[in-house]
Amino acid sequence: MKSKIFAFFNQKGGVGKTTSSINLAINLSSLNQKVLLIDFDPLANASLGIGIYNNANLKSLFSVYIDEAKIENIIIKNVFYDLDVICAKKDLINIKDFKNSNDNWFLKALQKIKHNYDFIIIDTPPGFNIINKLILKTITDIIIPIQPQYFALDSLFKILALIKLNNSISFHKTKILGILLTMFDQRINLAKDVYQKVSTIFKQHLFKTIIYKNIKLAEAIAYGKPINIYDKQLKTKNYYFILAQEILNKYE
Ligand code: ATP
Ligand code: MG
Repeated sequence: MKSKIFAFFNQKGGVGKTTSSINLAINLSSLNQKVLLIDFDPLANASLGIGIYNNANLKSLFSVYIDEAKIENIIIKNVFYDLDVICAKKDLINIKDFKNSNDNWFLKALQKIKHNYDFIIIDTPPGFNIINKLILKTITDIIIPIQPQYFALDSLFKILALIKLNNSISFHKTKILGILLTMFDQRINLAKDVYQKVSTIFKQHLFKTIIYKNIKLAEAIAYGKPINIYDKQLKTKNYYFILAQEILNKYE
C-alpha cells in the first residue's frame, strides 16, 4: 500500500485533534500497520499525551527546518508497540516563514521516510498559521474532527473552502478522508441537532464511526498514555479502534 499522510485539521481549538491523532495512530499500529505520529503543534500536547516530556536531547521538526538534523534522526522508535513518533517543542514557533521562499522542505523531508510507513499522522495546531499551511501542502488526506456545537458547521464550511482554495492554487492536492464527530454526547439535543445537519449536508464525507464523549479518553492523555494502554478493558468500546478499521476498509 502506498503510504498515506493524514492530518487532523480544524482551525477551531479543543475539538479533539490531539486525542484523535494519538489514538488513531496507536490503533492503526495495533492493526499491524507501521505508523509514524508527528506532533507539529508547538504546545506539544501529543508528545505529552504519549508521555514524552521535553529534554535536552529531544529534537522537533524545527531542527529539520534549520538543517540542524535529518528527519530520520529525530524519530523516536517503538514508543508504544511499534509506533514511531516525532515530538514537538516550543521551538516550532520559530518556523515563521517559508524557508528561503521554499515551502517544500517538510514535503521533501517526509518523502525521505514515508516508504517506511503505512500511515503518517500529523497533529496540527489550531488557528491558521504557517505550520498549518505547510501541512496542507504535504498531506495526502485530511480528517476534520468536529465537536457537535453551535459553531461546528460554520468552521466546517470555512475549512472546506480553505481546502478548495489550497487545491486550486497548489500543485499538491489534498483529499478529504472524512469528517469525524468527536466528544459526542447523545443526551444533549444540540449535539443530536448538529449530527443531523452534518449528516444531511456532508453525508458522503462523514465517518460512520462516532467518537463519544468518554472521560477515559481525557484521563489517558493526562496520564501520558494512549487509550489502549491506559485502559485495556475498554477494548470493545474503543471508538478509535473502530475508526482505524473503517479507515483500513477504505483502502481494501
Ligand atoms: P487544541 O486545538 O487546543 O490543540 P485539540 O483539538 O487538539 O485542541 P484535544 O486536546 O484532543 O483537542 O481535546 C480537547 C479536550 O477534550 C482535552 O482535554 C481532551 O482530553 C478532551 N477530550 C477529547 N476527546 C474526548 C472525548 N472523546 N471524551 C472526553 N474528553 C475528550
Ligand atoms: Mg491539540
